[in-house]
Formats: sequence, C-alpha cells, structure tokens
Amino acid sequence: MKNIIIFGAPGSGKGTYSDEIVSRYGMGHISTGDVLRAEIKNGTELGKLAKGLIDKGQLIPDDVMVNILAKVYDEKVPGKGVIFDGFPRTITQAEALKNMLADRHHELGNMIELIVDEETLMSRLLNRAKEQGRADDNEETIKARFQVYHNQTEPLAEWFEKEGIRHTFTWKGDKDTMLKEIFAFLDTQQ
Ligand code: ATP
Ligand code: MG
Repeated sequence: MKNIIIFGAPGSGKGTYSDEIVSRYGMGHISTGDVLRAEIKNGTELGKLAKGLIDKGQLIPDDVMVNILAKVYDEKVPGKGVIFDGFPRTITQAEALKNMLADRHHELGNMIELIVDEETLMSRLLNRAKEQGRADDNEETIKARFQVYHNQTEPLAEWFEKEGIRHTFTWKGDKDTMLKEIFAFLDTQQ
C-alpha cells in the first residue's frame, strides 16, 4: 500500500480511521500526537516542551517535529506503507515530508481529507474529554486548536491539491458510510 496522509480538524477521526485502515491493509501508523503524549508521560525534555504548547492548543515548532518524524519513520518496516496521522500540519512540515521521502526514494502517496462540521467536532471532543481525560480536550483549548487548524493547517489542503493527491471525504452523520467510501477508494490504490 502507498503511504497515506490522513488530514482533518481536531476530532475529525484521524486516529479512528487510521486504526481501521491499519487493520484492513496492514500498514504502519505514525500519530505525532501519540508520540508527543508518550514523551510527556515519560517526562523527557521534549515532553516538557510539548506539554506547555499542547495544553495551550499551539503547535510544536516545525524543526522539532520534522526530526521526530524522520526518526519514527525510519523505525517502521520498509515497503509496507505508513499512515501519517497529525503530520504534516504546516506547509514547512509538508515540504520536509516530501523531501524526506524523496531522499529515501519513497512516494508521498495519497492524502485523505476528512471534512466534519464544527458542531460535531466540538461534541466529539467534549465527549472524549469525559472518556479519556485528555488535557487539551476542554472547551477553551479546543477553540484554540480550531483556530490554529484554520490558520496554519487548513491552507495545506491546497498544497496537496497541487501535488495531485488530495482526496476529500465528507461526514454525513454515519461512520460506516464514511469508512465504506474511504475503503472503496483505497482498494483501488494497492
Ligand atoms: P485528534 O487527535 O482528535 O485528531 P488533534 O488533531 O488536535 O485531535 P493530535 O494530532 O493528537 O490531536 O495532536 C495533539 C497536539 O499535539 C496538537 O494540538 C499539537 O499541539 C501537537 N502536535 C501533534 N502533531 C503535531 C505536528 N505535526 N506539528 C506540531 N504540533 C503537533
Ligand atoms: Mg488523534
């Protein structure tokens, strides 16, 4: 399977659909949010830097993220294809990803964009706050994350469009329908 970049607002289901894609196609999964949360849990220097920013809904600096990404990518099984979940989030990160993959003679693959209305996003995240207690899932921080998403990440959709690999899927109120549409597309991309 080609690499996949799963792209969407906070709460759009990047992690959920990544898990489904992994079980169907057996690829690797890199969630930069999960990597950072593990660093926080282990109390590393990176974790300390990340916590301050994540709790405010801000992004971790690009150079830090790009280094982490390359390191985690190189630990994955070569040739299996990877889902990038939560990366890239800025144009700088996207350019770095493209170069990193080109250096390894790998392709960028496909970008899967999840479009979900903001009311649904907010209610999912507040619900997740009750279930998982993520520190950044409170109303104030969620609003900051939406703002950061609109300003810094959403413009990247155009970047992927220009690369000719943007594939958009819109939430219509039902997970199975969304999943069926994503699988129907990915089945043609083996
Ligand atoms: P969800 O997990 O619901 O999709 P999300 O996209 O906000 O929501 P994560 O991807 O888990 O959540 O990221 C959580 C936080 O980690 C971000 O708000 C940001 O502070 C930091 N982070 C994760 N990935 C990156 C990245 N590529 N660049 C900069 N910061 C990042
Ligand atoms: Mg996630």
